[in-house]
This record gives sequence, C-alpha cells and structure tokens, in this order.
Amino acid sequence: MAMRDFESRDGKMIFAGMNVEDIAKEFGTPVYVTDEQRVRENYRAVYSAFSKYMETEVHYACKANTNLAILSILRQEGAGIDAVSIGEVETCLKAGFDPSKIMYTGVFVSEEELKQVVETGVRINLDSVSEMEKLARIAPGTKVSFRITPGVGSGHGEKVITGNKGAKFGIPRDKVVETYLHALDIGLEPVGIHAHIGSGGQSVEPFVDEAEVLAELINQIDEAGIKLDFVDIGGGIGVPYKPNEDEMDLDGMASEVTDVFEQNTDVRKIIVEPGRYIVADSTVLLTACTDIKDAETKKYVGVDAGFNTLIRPAMYGSFHYIADGSKFGRACTSRYDIAGPLCESGDYLGHDRVLPEVEEGDIMVVYDAGAYGFTMASNYNSRPLPAEVLINDGKAELIRERETPEEQWRHQKVPERLQR
Ligand SMILES: *Cc1c(COP(=O)(O)O)cnc(C)c1O
Repeated sequence: MAMRDFESRDGKMIFAGMNVEDIAKEFGTPVYVTDEQRVRENYRAVYSAFSKYMETEVHYACKANTNLAILSILRQEGAGIDAVSIGEVETCLKAGFDPSKIMYTGVFVSEEELKQVVETGVRINLDSVSEMEKLARIAPGTKVSFRITPGVGSGHGEKVITGNKGAKFGIPRDKVVETYLHALDIGLEPVGIHAHIGSGGQSVEPFVDEAEVLAELINQIDEAGIKLDFVDIGGGIGVPYKPNEDEMDLDGMASEVTDVFEQNTDVRKIIVEPGRYIVADSTVLLTACTDIKDAETKKYVGVDAGFNTLIRPAMYGSFHYIADGSKFGRACTSRYDIAGPLCESGDYLGHDRVLPEVEEGDIMVVYDAGAYGFTMASNYNSRPLPAEVLINDGKAELIRERETPEEQWRHQKVPERLQR
C-alpha cells in the first residue's frame, strides 16, 4: 500500500465516501475520522501475508489507537492484542476480547500492576528477571514468554528504536538461556520468545536480522531442554507517510521471516504485533483553518489542532501529509507552515508545504493520523481532547465525544481554605 489517494468531488475531498466538509460541519473540528473498512483491510493484509507461510496470530498493538469501537472492529476480525499496561488490558477486556487473546508486555512493571494483570487472566510476556521473580511468587505455574533484546533496532526515529543493544527493553542476549532455565527452576512454564525492534521500519532486512537472532536463541533454549510453542516478532511495520514513499513489502517480509524459523528451528507458530500498520492510514485528522498570517519570512495556515491533538510532528519531527480538503485537487500555488493554537513555537503540524491559496474556514486534512494520534493527545493549554468519528457504508457515527471543560476539572480538588 502506498500513501492513500483520495477522490475529489466538486473540489472537496471525499473520505470513505463522505465529503470532509460535511463531516467537519456535523461533528466540529478538530476531529479524527476513521474508515472502518480500511482497518479491516489492513488487518487482513497482515494476517493473510503471514498465515500463507505459517500458523499466525496477529496481535494488534493497541497503544496505536485504543478507541473501543476500533478495538471492537479488530475483535470481530479475530485479532489478538498486544497490551503494554494494565489500562490497555482493561480497555481491551471492555471491548470484549477474551483474556486468552491478549498478551501483556510491560517494561519496569510494578508488583501492584503485575498482580492486577495476573487477576485478569491474560497472557504474560516478561521483560526482566525481576519481573519474572515477582510473577513466580504471585502466580506459580504460569505459562510465560520473554521479551529479549535482539541487538537489532529499526524505526522512524531515535526515540522509537527499541531492540538495540543496551535498550531498556528485554532480556540481554547473553542472559537469555540462563533466564529460561531460571524460570523453570522457580516454577514458571516458558512457552515462547518475543522481540520488538522498534516502530515504523520500512525495510524487510532488520526483521530478517531479528528473526535470525531469535532462531539462534530458540535453538540454544531447545538444547537446554526447553521446547517453545511460538515466536513473537513484535510490531514495527512502517507505513508510507509521503506520497512518493515505498510501501513495506509485506509478503516479502512474511516469506523471509517465516523461512528463517522454518529452516532453522522447530517452532511453527508466529505472532506479529502491528499497531501502526493496522490503523495509521485508516484515519485522517480534520482541522479547520482559523487564521492566515503573513509573517514576513513565511506564511502560516493557523489551524485548530495543535500538538495537544497530534503530537507526532512536534515530538518526533514526523511528516504527515496535509491537504486542503475544501480545495482538493486545485493547483498548489502557495507555501505555508501549518501551525496550531498552542502557545509554543514548537506547535506545528507541517513546515513548508505547498497548498492552494488557503482561506479561513477551509478544512485541512492531515493524513495517516490513526496511529499514535488520539492516544498521544493531551489537554495542554486546557484544550479538550478531540472527537472521534467512524465511517462505514457511507454513514458517519461519533465514537468519542469531544471532551467538555467540566471533564478536565473533574478530578481536581480545591482545599476548603482556598475556596473563600
Ligand atoms: C509499540 C509496540 C508494538 C507496535 O509497534 P507499531 O510500530 O505500531 O507496529 C508492538 N509490540 C510492542 C511490544 C510494542 O511496544
């Protein structure tokens, strides 16, 4: 899949069969709008790529987008879940996932959280020796897998590479075999092995390198007398955020990675944990132009979404393609920075973009906003969390109301003496 291409009708962008101006009018802005069918297609693309070669479980990494409606779509598709906190576990149970479909992978997990996770009955993927020892005390006999540090990293930026040597995640490579033996000793039952190299990689190679490390470890663990049922290669499959960017070769990845395990190990079941790939391009962020400013050295399109709404550009320097949905397909004649309403110079959505002559009231469309968009939104500047809308079959439905001011104060308490 390349970056998505949308239809223009009477100069307006059509998203999932609907005019983006109509959606903005009905639900207000800023608003995240998701195309249900695209979520389903993306899930099926990953599942069919891997299941062609090996028994496969696709665990959707829900930190990318935890809206209950979107989780429910994936439950209907038969997905499993990769959850990284007790909050995510509870959210996915609420969305109707069976505990056996959910795998919890934490890092620096507190004893309190681990106890709560155990109570829910979900599968547990351990990140450290200390977490393992805690689990053996809390719940002897539990089936476990371990996240290992493969020494291979990949991702769209420094901050999202997780598999490199020295990373805070996983069991260091040279301690893996002894850790599996230790787990047996203290009464746990190791059944799998896991790694996650990072987020947003666009090439197959790092995944093959990762698979080779995992295969070698599987064999060492095997020689030590422990047979594993599954290998979990984590997530991190990238998506093209730019028009001319190549798509990930999903089939190539699936065939090469499964081949490593088939040729070299006895393990015949693979788990994949895509987050971004499943939801990123299913969703656009609609944000209204509130102001146009000519600032001598550049021109600004001021919009009502800032890094409180979508933090990826400000936090990672990420690129999101932005179009004027109200003048869609019209010749691009002007150059702008697109910036939000927060009182921070770093509050921007895009630098140096060519667009048609934008006018106040135009609906700007930020592409590929479905992953790490809403889930990283905040209340900074006391701005409400945005609304979320789901489109299916030409019908748009609200799946999350815009937050109210009262909801932002709800948990605050003012001591009596300050109320005078
Ligand atoms: C974040 C994460 C993923 C998913 O990453 P994507 O880049 O969204 O595919 C998978 N597994 C684990 C353990 C993660 O922390």
